[in-house]
Amino acid sequence: MDDFYRDEILEHYRHPHNKGRLEQPDITYEDHNPFCGDRIGIDLLIKDNRVADVRFWGQGCAISQASASMLTDEIKGMTLDEVKTLNKDDILDLLGIPIGPVRLKCALLSLKALKAGVWGMDKWPDEE
Ligand code: ZN
Repeated sequence: MDDFYRDEILEHYRHPHNKGRLEQPDITYEDHNPFCGDRIGIDLLIKDNRVADVRFWGQGCAISQASASMLTDEIKGMTLDEVKTLNKDDILDLLGIPIGPVRLKCALLSLKALKAGVWGMDKWPDEE
Protein backbone atom coordinates (compact mmCIF):
# COMPACT_ATOMS: atom_id res chain seq x y z
CA MET A 1 0.00 0.00 0.00
CA ASP A 2 1.27 3.46 -0.90
CA ASP A 3 2.44 5.20 2.27
CA PHE A 4 1.10 8.63 1.35
CA TYR A 5 -2.44 7.39 0.80
CA ARG A 6 -2.33 5.06 3.77
CA ASP A 7 -1.35 8.05 5.93
CA GLU A 8 -4.17 10.11 4.42
CA ILE A 9 -6.69 7.43 5.31
CA LEU A 10 -5.40 7.09 8.86
CA GLU A 11 -5.44 10.86 9.26
CA HIS A 12 -9.11 11.03 8.19
CA TYR A 13 -9.89 8.08 10.47
CA ARG A 14 -8.27 9.71 13.49
CA HIS A 15 -9.49 13.24 12.75
CA PRO A 16 -12.63 12.83 10.64
CA HIS A 17 -14.04 15.83 8.82
CA ASN A 18 -17.76 16.70 9.11
CA LYS A 19 -18.33 14.25 11.95
CA GLY A 20 -21.37 14.90 14.14
CA ARG A 21 -25.01 15.77 13.59
CA LEU A 22 -26.87 18.69 12.02
CA GLU A 23 -29.53 20.34 14.15
CA GLN A 24 -32.25 20.34 11.50
CA PRO A 25 -31.24 18.15 8.59
CA ASP A 26 -33.51 17.84 5.56
CA ILE A 27 -32.37 14.26 5.11
CA THR A 28 -31.14 11.72 7.61
CA TYR A 29 -30.20 8.18 6.76
CA GLU A 30 -28.30 5.47 8.57
CA ASP A 31 -26.91 2.34 7.00
CA HIS A 32 -24.60 -0.50 7.87
CA ASN A 33 -22.24 -2.93 6.25
CA PRO A 34 -23.04 -6.45 7.45
CA PHE A 35 -19.77 -7.78 6.04
CA CYS A 36 -17.59 -5.79 8.44
CA GLY A 37 -19.98 -4.28 11.01
CA ASP A 38 -19.43 -0.66 9.92
CA ARG A 39 -22.18 1.87 10.56
CA ILE A 40 -22.55 5.26 8.86
CA GLY A 41 -25.30 7.81 9.24
CA ILE A 42 -25.56 10.94 7.12
CA ASP A 43 -27.34 14.25 7.79
CA LEU A 44 -27.84 16.60 4.85
CA LEU A 45 -29.00 20.17 4.56
CA ILE A 46 -30.27 20.92 1.04
CA LYS A 47 -30.62 24.45 -0.31
CA ASP A 48 -31.35 25.40 -3.93
CA ASN A 49 -30.81 21.79 -4.95
CA ARG A 50 -27.30 21.81 -3.47
CA VAL A 51 -25.69 20.17 -0.48
CA ALA A 52 -25.49 23.19 1.81
CA ASP A 53 -24.10 21.21 4.73
CA VAL A 54 -23.41 17.64 5.70
CA ARG A 55 -22.39 15.60 8.74
CA PHE A 56 -21.80 11.94 9.31
CA TRP A 57 -21.66 9.74 12.36
CA GLY A 58 -20.95 6.12 13.00
CA GLN A 59 -18.24 3.66 13.74
CA GLY A 60 -16.31 0.96 12.00
CA CYS A 61 -13.02 0.23 10.31
CA ALA A 62 -10.60 2.89 9.11
CA ILE A 63 -11.62 2.51 5.46
CA SER A 64 -15.33 3.03 6.16
CA GLN A 65 -14.80 6.07 8.37
CA ALA A 66 -12.11 7.69 6.19
CA SER A 67 -14.27 7.23 3.13
CA ALA A 68 -17.19 9.00 4.86
CA SER A 69 -14.89 11.84 5.93
CA MET A 70 -13.55 12.28 2.38
CA LEU A 71 -16.95 11.91 0.70
CA THR A 72 -18.61 14.50 2.94
CA ASP A 73 -15.79 16.95 2.11
CA GLU A 74 -16.30 16.23 -1.57
CA ILE A 75 -20.07 16.73 -1.76
CA LYS A 76 -20.31 19.98 0.17
CA GLY A 77 -21.57 22.57 -2.31
CA MET A 78 -22.34 20.04 -5.05
CA THR A 79 -25.69 19.99 -6.78
CA LEU A 80 -27.82 16.91 -6.18
CA ASP A 81 -27.45 16.05 -9.86
CA GLU A 82 -23.68 15.99 -9.42
CA VAL A 83 -23.95 13.91 -6.27
CA LYS A 84 -26.17 11.43 -8.07
CA THR A 85 -23.46 10.67 -10.64
CA LEU A 86 -20.85 9.76 -8.00
CA ASN A 87 -19.97 6.10 -8.24
CA LYS A 88 -17.64 3.43 -7.00
CA ASP A 89 -14.68 4.77 -8.98
CA ASP A 90 -15.01 8.26 -7.48
CA ILE A 91 -14.78 6.79 -3.99
CA LEU A 92 -11.77 4.68 -4.94
CA ASP A 93 -10.13 7.80 -6.41
CA LEU A 94 -10.68 9.67 -3.16
CA LEU A 95 -9.16 6.84 -1.13
CA GLY A 96 -6.31 6.53 -3.58
CA ILE A 97 -5.35 2.94 -2.81
CA PRO A 98 -6.38 -0.38 -4.30
CA ILE A 99 -9.30 -1.76 -2.31
CA GLY A 100 -9.81 -5.53 -2.38
CA PRO A 101 -13.25 -7.14 -2.65
CA VAL A 102 -13.53 -7.67 1.11
CA ARG A 103 -12.96 -3.98 1.85
CA LEU A 104 -15.00 -2.64 -1.06
CA LYS A 105 -18.25 -2.54 0.93
CA CYS A 106 -16.43 -0.64 3.69
CA ALA A 107 -15.27 1.94 1.17
CA LEU A 108 -18.72 2.28 -0.42
CA LEU A 109 -20.93 2.36 2.66
CA SER A 110 -21.04 6.16 2.94
CA LEU A 111 -21.98 6.57 -0.73
CA LYS A 112 -24.64 3.89 -0.36
CA ALA A 113 -26.11 5.67 2.68
CA LEU A 114 -26.03 8.99 0.83
CA LYS A 115 -27.84 7.68 -2.25
CA ALA A 116 -30.33 5.70 -0.20
CA GLY A 117 -31.09 8.77 1.91
CA VAL A 118 -31.57 11.19 -0.99
CA TRP A 119 -33.05 8.96 -3.68
CA GLY A 120 -34.03 5.76 -1.95
CA MET A 121 -31.43 3.94 -4.07
CA ASP A 122 -30.91 1.13 -1.63
CA LYS A 123 -28.22 -0.65 -3.61
CA TRP A 124 -24.50 -1.10 -3.16
CA PRO A 125 -22.70 1.24 -5.59
CA ASP A 126 -20.65 -1.69 -6.93
CA GLU A 127 -23.85 -3.54 -7.81
CA GLU A 128 -25.67 -0.75 -9.65
ZN1 ZN B 1 -15.20 -2.02 7.32
